[in-house]
Amino acid sequence: MIDIHCHILPGVDDGPVSIDESLLMAREAVKEGIKTIIATPHHKNNKYENTKNQILEKVRNFNKVLIKENIPLEILPGQENRIYGELIEDFQSEKILTLSNTNYLFIEFPSTHVPRYTEKLLYEIQTLGIIPIIVHPERNGELLKNPDIIYKLVKNGSLTQVTASSIAGYFGKSIQKFSGQLIEHNLTHFIASDAHNISNRTFKMAEAFKLIESAYGVDYTYIFSENSNSLIKGNNIIKEIPEAIRKKKFLGIFQ
Ligand code: FE
Repeated sequence: MIDIHCHILPGVDDGPVSIDESLLMAREAVKEGIKTIIATPHHKNNKYENTKNQILEKVRNFNKVLIKENIPLEILPGQENRIYGELIEDFQSEKILTLSNTNYLFIEFPSTHVPRYTEKLLYEIQTLGIIPIIVHPERNGELLKNPDIIYKLVKNGSLTQVTASSIAGYFGKSIQKFSGQLIEHNLTHFIASDAHNISNRTFKMAEAFKLIESAYGVDYTYIFSENSNSLIKGNNIIKEIPEAIRKKKFLGIFQ
C-alpha cells in the first residue's frame, strides 16, 4: 500500500517532534501494510514553512535512518501547500515541491472556507502542466455546505484526496457522510492517511480500505490503490466522470 499524504518527517511541522517519534510512525505504517509514503510537510499554512530543498534533504536523511533501522519503508518527497496568492511565483522560484517529482501538486484550503481566487489559481497551475490535488475536501466547512464548488473544481481538472480517518468516522458523522458522497459522485481520486502521530492522528488506511470495499466493492479499492501507484510514477490516473452532489432539500415537502 502507498500513502501519498503523511506528516512523518521529524521536527518540521505538527507531526513527530523527534526522530524516535518518526520511527514509531514508520513501524506503525509497515504494520498497516504500507510500503511507500510521500512525506508532505505543511507549507505556508500560517504556522510552518518547508521549502523544496529543505524537504528533499530531510527525506534523504530519514531514508538513511530507515535503512539503518531495518524498517522496510520508502519515503518519497512531497509538500502540503496551503493555497496562497504567490504560489505560482514560488513554484517558479523552486520553493514548491510536487509529489515525488511528478506533475502532481498538493493544494490545501483553509479549514473554514475556499478563497475567492481558488478557481483562477488552480486553472493557472494547470496551464503550467501541473495537476492540482486538493487535499481533504471533506474537512472543509464551505465545501461541506456547498459541495457544488468541489464538483466544479474537479470538472475543471483538479483531483482530490480524501482522508482515511474521515471515511472511518474519526472526524465525525457529517464528514464521514460527505466522504462517502465524494466517492459515490466520482469526486475523489486518492485515499491517504494524513497521519501526524500514532495516537490521535494515525494511519487508519487498512480500516478505510476495508470499509470502502464492503460499501462500494473491490472496483473502488482497486482504483484508489492503482491511482496512488500511478501517481508516484508520474503516470495518468483513473478518473470517472464527476457528478454533482444533489442536496435533498425539499424531501419531506413533496413526499
Ligand atoms: Fe496534512
